Amino acid sequence: MRIDIITLFPEMCERVIDESITGQARRAGLVDIRCHNLRDYSDDRRRRVDDYPYGGGQGMLIKAEPVARCFEAICRQTSSRPLFIYMSPQGEVFRQSIAVELSGLENICLLCGHYEGIDERVLETMVDRQLSIGDFVLTGGELPALAITDAVARMIPGVLSENASFEDESHFSGLLEYPQYTRPPVWRGIPVPEVLKSGHAKNIADWKHEQSLERTARLRPDMLEKTSSD
Ligand code: SAM
Repeated sequence: MRIDIITLFPEMCERVIDESITGQARRAGLVDIRCHNLRDYSDDRRRRVDDYPYGGGQGMLIKAEPVARCFEAICRQTSSRPLFIYMSPQGEVFRQSIAVELSGLENICLLCGHYEGIDERVLETMVDRQLSIGDFVLTGGELPALAITDAVARMIPGVLSENASFEDESHFSGLLEYPQYTRPPVWRGIPVPEVLKSGHAKNIADWKHEQSLERTARLRPDMLEKTSSD
């Protein structure tokens, strides 16, 4: 899979991507992640990509042409046109099922906005989907793009050691994950639940499922309501 990120801060994105699981996956050739500096596609001598919004209003706006040129350059490099996704607080809220869906694609391209956002015309004519990472406003799309890149890359077969690594995790099956413990068996007077040390596979599986249900009901009752209404 190839993930392209269009940004004003490629070094920031590279630093994060090169760490941990995404860095390992990249070096192992399991995912090809490329960061593109939007300024390289500016038509301005001083590499500016923003301008004042028509009709006034606070702040600056990213112009349509550099975004279009950058995306077209990426399309010329990829085997198929990437799904073009704009990071936006106005978009559909990102969730695990979208990470799974995107990880099945050959190419995606994540567009990071900045300032007040991006000229609507490029969004209307070129962008396929808009994704938000929550109902709050960040300064730029880099953190959302990095969060989505991480969530998608870890779904690619071979990136995590076993499928079980994510299938048990929160949100994958519509429940939150059960509590987990490691050594020592008693920490500051608090013991690990006996069942986890029993070696009895079925009892352990039942306990984990009960804990997942209890935790989801307590912390995220909306998830259970959604599952029962589906
Ligand atoms: N003026 C825009 C609005 O009110 O919808 C907000 C612009 S925001 C300051 C700058 C950029 O940050 C956006 O273009 C977007 O790429 C990114 N961004 C901010 N919050 C986000 C969120 N919750 N999810 C995804 N991207 C976000």
